[in-house]
Amino acid sequence: MTAITDIAAVGAWLRDARAIAVLSGAGMSAESGVPTFRDAQTGLWAKFRPEELATEAAFRADPRRVWDWYASRREMMKDVHPNAGHHAIAAFQQRHPGRLTLITQNVDGLHQRAGSIGTLCLHGDIFADRWLDTPRNCCHIDHAVAGHPPYCDRCGNLVRPGVVWFGEPLPYATLEAAQQAARTCELMLVVGTAGAVYPAAGLAQVARQAGARVAIINPAASDLDDVAHALLSGTAASVLPALLAGV
Ligand code: NAD
Repeated sequence: MTAITDIAAVGAWLRDARAIAVLSGAGMSAESGVPTFRDAQTGLWAKFRPEELATEAAFRADPRRVWDWYASRREMMKDVHPNAGHHAIAAFQQRHPGRLTLITQNVDGLHQRAGSIGTLCLHGDIFADRWLDTPRNCCHIDHAVAGHPPYCDRCGNLVRPGVVWFGEPLPYATLEAAQQAARTCELMLVVGTAGAVYPAAGLAQVARQAGARVAIINPAASDLDDVAHALLSGTAASVLPALLAGV
């Protein structure tokens, strides 16, 4: 099957669809100034691949290095703003309550800051802190001793960022809700994801197998292109407003 590339046709699917799911990835926030994982790491971090930093084993082996990497990402993410793509999704949800379920792999909080409600965050929240090991009675996150990373002064438990690392399970209820949205939507928009990280990427296949139309919005080819009925080549901040605004 050859995928179509016509935005007007996808607009017609959108108008017809009673239930819509959006699956967003790092490219969604690229135009807000948040680098994707596929973009080269910069400066101090250029010599590390994210896959080598974003794991529990990496954190246990060198907590300072991984904590400082996340601290630099937090710093960068707190100064950015939602772009026209985030705003277009949030405005659509406000015009059509209950019609669009937003599933994101992003940890930057930009969808929520644009006003999206009920966002299913598959990979957590970079600004949240939690304990590395099961907290004991002495572990109180608000009283962690400052450090790289902060720690419990009684038992030495370390604070880690509230993201899902490679190799970790996704939050169960969130994944269940995302799968339910994928199974029941009539149209799924897949925005700014390379489609290489599972189980998130599998949601596009779930939607397709359940009979939904799948449209990809990405300026480059992705691993999910074979699953798509439509490939809209362009960026999130340009295509989403054009697609969603009139509906
Ligand atoms: P990825 O980095 O693997 O791929 C990014 C994709 O976005 C690519 O396919 C690229 O072509 C596309 N892209 C680049 N600019 C775009 C734009 N302006 N508009 C639309 N698409 C654009 O990202 P991934 O597939 O999301 O997987 C990487 C993992 O790392 C995910 O878990 C992701 O959430 C996480 N991550 C999150 C953030 C964030 O929260 N902003 C940033 C980097 C990575």
